[in-house]
Amino acid sequence: MPAFWEESDFDDHELVEVVRDRASGMTAIIALHSTHLGPGAGGTRFWHYADPAGAMRDALRLSRGMSYKNAMAGLPMGGGKAVILADAARTKTPTMLAAFADAIAALGGRYVTAEDVGMSEADMVTIHQRTRHVCGLPVSDPEMAGGDPGPFTATGIYYGIKAAVAHKLGRDSMAGVHVAVQGTGSVGGGVARLLAADGALLTLADIDSARAEALAAELGAVSVPAAAIMDVDCDVFSPNALGAILDDTGIARLNCQIVAGGANNQLARGQHGQLLHDRGMVYAPDYVINGGGIIAVSLEYLAREKGQPCTRAEVMRRLEEIPVRLHKIWEQSDATGLPSDQVADAMAQKLIGRG
Ligand code: NAD
Repeated sequence: MPAFWEESDFDDHELVEVVRDRASGMTAIIALHSTHLGPGAGGTRFWHYADPAGAMRDALRLSRGMSYKNAMAGLPMGGGKAVILADAARTKTPTMLAAFADAIAALGGRYVTAEDVGMSEADMVTIHQRTRHVCGLPVSDPEMAGGDPGPFTATGIYYGIKAAVAHKLGRDSMAGVHVAVQGTGSVGGGVARLLAADGALLTLADIDSARAEALAAELGAVSVPAAAIMDVDCDVFSPNALGAILDDTGIARLNCQIVAGGANNQLARGQHGQLLHDRGMVYAPDYVINGGGIIAVSLEYLAREKGQPCTRAEVMRRLEEIPVRLHKIWEQSDATGLPSDQVADAMAQKLIGRG
């Protein structure tokens, strides 16, 4: 049996720490993939895993993803991620958060946390009471950067979808472009609203069907059952719910020309980027198109560390770089014949000194 650190998911992580706090019952994994460009930044996931190996795998893959994401976002930040292993009832207590905050503090700024699935802005405030290495904190001034990264992520994806439509379909307007949106939460809902304002035709789905139906009614869109969204005949499929949906079966079901959405780790395996490419689809590498949130919260954190303000306008300006990077990736993909995910990975690896 290979050593744990020889397994492919480990991918030369600089540090993997398992934190146990008996008093609160908190168990967490903090993974730092690379601090080559700066402190490892990435959110904390609070999730119930069927087995601890699944939690470790999630932490490692997400942490590496953050290295690539932060590098491609042009941020002076490395990649890290934390998962707190929740019980089946997802019990979260202030003492658990305090123990977790102390573990972050002990890393002395090598890891900077943020919100992720199962964690809220209020949780970030609680953690911030014990360590300053937290981003995504609320701001009272709406002109200033900070708070929930979801809307910034959604804006970056919206720009990315427009870029993909220009690149693949040669259209400079979203009017009449049909987008199937999987997941209508913070990110997917935000993307749908921005696209609707541009005249796109939308088909929406969520496992919370009432949520998708309510948004569809608000936007004059159509909703379908969650199980049917990958079969919709459309121009763009936008995954904004779960990872690993682009596997052999999922890709075979797709009936679109572009795949561009915010879910992390969309490709089930490395070969699935090739499969999308072979089917002639333009794929927006997930960690490039969904970098808006980390751009926003990192700029907020870096500004706070320097004691300088960072405005929302500055963040919005930086989000406009996302489509520029995507165009570079697709142009290189067209020139080399390599799938866009491989082009992006090579660019990111070079940036973190592992190319
Ligand atoms: P969210 O919890 O607000 O929304 C997710 C939505 O997806 C929920 O409404 C949920 O019911 C729905 N959903 C779950 N499984 C589904 C399925 N099988 N089919 C259809 N809908 C399903 O989460 P979010 O913040 O919008 O994040 C969505 C995705 O984007 C996640 O993969 C997340 O990791 C990723 N992401 C989020 C951010 C951010 O800033 N929030 C940044 C980068 C990446």
